[in-house]
Amino acid sequence: MRARAHCTPLNPHTTSDIQINAMKICNTIEDMRAACREAKRGGKRLGFVPTMGALHEGHLSLVRAAKDSCDAVAASIFVNPLQFGPREDLGKYPRSFSRDRALLEKEGAELLFTPSVEEMYPAGAITWIEVEGLSDKLDGRSRPGHFRGVTTVVTKLFHIVAPDAAFFGQKDAAQVAIVRRMVRDLNFPVEIVACPIVREPDGLAMSSRNAYLDPEERRQALVLHRSLQEVKELWEGGERDAAQLAAAGQQEVAKEKSVRLDYFEIVEPDSLNPVASVANGALVAIAAFVGATRLIDNIVLPGSSGAGKNQGPSLRSG
Ligand code: AMP
Repeated sequence: MRARAHCTPLNPHTTSDIQINAMKICNTIEDMRAACREAKRGGKRLGFVPTMGALHEGHLSLVRAAKDSCDAVAASIFVNPLQFGPREDLGKYPRSFSRDRALLEKEGAELLFTPSVEEMYPAGAITWIEVEGLSDKLDGRSRPGHFRGVTTVVTKLFHIVAPDAAFFGQKDAAQVAIVRRMVRDLNFPVEIVACPIVREPDGLAMSSRNAYLDPEERRQALVLHRSLQEVKELWEGGERDAAQLAAAGQQEVAKEKSVRLDYFEIVEPDSLNPVASVANGALVAIAAFVGATRLIDNIVLPGSSGAGKNQGPSLRSG
C-alpha cells in the first residue's frame, strides 16, 4: 500500500498582514515529482539540497546558496539506510523533523521531500549505482558500501526532483568528487555545486554527529581541525612533500591520546588518489573516532595557480 500524501498548500496565504509562503512537504515520490515539475514550469531553475536532517548552519548554508542562484529550492530529509554499515549509527542518528521543517521554511525553501524508507526502497529492489575506483577511497575504505548507498540514493533523488543544480557541502569532499564523477559519467543534466565547510567559532566542522559528543569529547574533537591547520601552516611555510605534511598532521592527532585516527590522507581532489607532492593542489582529509563518534574534516591546499583557494578546485561542474 502506498503511503498517503501529506502536502501543505503551494499557494501563499496571508495571516494578518504578514504574507507566508508555505513550504510544500511531500512524502511520496509521485507528489514530489509533480511538485518539482510545477516548480520548474516556465523554465524556472530548481535547486536541490539533499540532507539526512538534524539540520545545522552547514545545511542551511547550502539552502542559502541554492536560494541565491535558483528560482526555487527543494530540500530532502531522508536518513538513508543504504549508506550505513551494520554496526553504524542508523538507529540513533539524530532526528528533529519539526525543528528542521521550521528552519527550512525560515530559509525560504519551497519544497521538502521526506519519504519513508519503504517509499524510497520498494521490497525487492536490486539495482545499485557505484562509482568504481572512487567508492573505495577515503571513507569508502573504512565504510564499505557507504558510497554505493550515497550514489544510489542521490541518483534516485535526482530522478525524482530533476533539479537544475544540486548543492553539496565540501565537508564531505569524497562525496562531492564521487557525485561529480557519477553525474559526468552518466550524463545527469544537473550542475553540482560544492559549498564551503561551515565551522563552529572554535574551528570544529559542523556535523549532525557533533550532538553525540560529551563536553570532554567535544574538546578532543578540535584536534581534527588543529591537525589540518598544522598542515596548512607547514604548507604556507613552503613544504610541498605530502608525506612530510601528512606525518605532521598525524603527529598532531596523536597528541590527543583518546582520539583514534581512521585516516589522514593527502589526495588529488577529483581522483582521490594519494599525491606525492602538493605543488598542484591537494585535498587533505582526516577521519577520526572521538569516543564512539566518527568525525571527518578536510582542507584544500590550492595549487601554484591559486585555483580553488578555499573550497577546492573546480567548484562547479555540470
Ligand atoms: P548530511 O545531512 O550529513 O547528509 O549532509 C547533507 C549535506 O550537508 C551534505 O552535502 C553535506 O556535505 C553538507 N554539510 C554537512 N555539514 C556541513 C558543514 N559543516 N558545512 C557545509 N556543508 C555541510
